[in-house]
Amino acid sequence: MGRPTAIAGVDVGGTKIAVGVLHADGTSTRIGVEPTVRGTGEANAATVRTLLRRACDTFAIVAVGLSVTTTVDGDGRFRDLTSWIGWRGWTPADVLGDTPCELRDSGSVIAANDAACGALAEWSLGAGRGANDTLFVSLGTGLSHSLVHDGRVLTGAHGGALFSGYAPPARCPWPTCEAGTVEDICSGPALAEAYQGPGARDARPVLDDARDGVPAAGDVVDHAAWHLGAYLAGLVQSYDPEVVVIGGGLGTGAPGYVESAVRIARDLIRLPFASRVPFTPAALGADSGWLGAALTAAHG
Ligand SMILES: [Zn+2]
Repeated sequence: MGRPTAIAGVDVGGTKIAVGVLHADGTSTRIGVEPTVRGTGEANAATVRTLLRRACDTFAIVAVGLSVTTTVDGDGRFRDLTSWIGWRGWTPADVLGDTPCELRDSGSVIAANDAACGALAEWSLGAGRGANDTLFVSLGTGLSHSLVHDGRVLTGAHGGALFSGYAPPARCPWPTCEAGTVEDICSGPALAEAYQGPGARDARPVLDDARDGVPAAGDVVDHAAWHLGAYLAGLVQSYDPEVVVIGGGLGTGAPGYVESAVRIARDLIRLPFASRVPFTPAALGADSGWLGAALTAAHG
């Protein structure tokens, strides 16, 4: 008996790299999780190869899907505009390098954006299952969205139909508001910096203090929730989704913040039918990236 065949999914996020495999019967197996090294492409590629080799020890990997926090240009190269992963100009094949898997010969390596992968995973296996228009919002290190319509991820003309977090913020009631983008206010690092100062990355202290009634923390979270609500209202009125699935580390890990934002979104949505849209947390948690990557590879 040879090793059973499987499709590997690799999730390369802003803070972690996770690998798992999807089996032919639709079940899946987690392989491992390692930290992302900011800006160091070789180190991140080495982590991907190590985790894939571990998958290859048990399974015959016939294809690999890569979920990345960036998009791929028309030549199949990562844009990585912020150089966060360190893969600007790299191809997916560059990332896999000499990984000694069967897939090296098959060439079945495909990359997609993490929001698109999360959307596909939640539509296929999670909280957006079966919906005709599933809007997935990824809130964590960054803020982005993706829509699955009629079973397909809407990618846009340049693979960029997800950068809604880069939009300028709506005018809010806070007189001191001066952020350049919605992401600069609502993401995890943005919450951390607004409370603890430049360089802070972990939003847990501000969220915990807000929950415990510390006024300064509450103001930071209330302000971000207002902008997140306005952002969600804009997306809902643009797409008229059947369900909005909120994922990402912050999206699933900060229920008070997200629930405030959803209340604000419902107040701001002007269309009566759209204001009733269900908002639901992602069901697949931290697995949605690699599962979506494997599903992307499975769909070719
Ligand atoms: Zn503001």
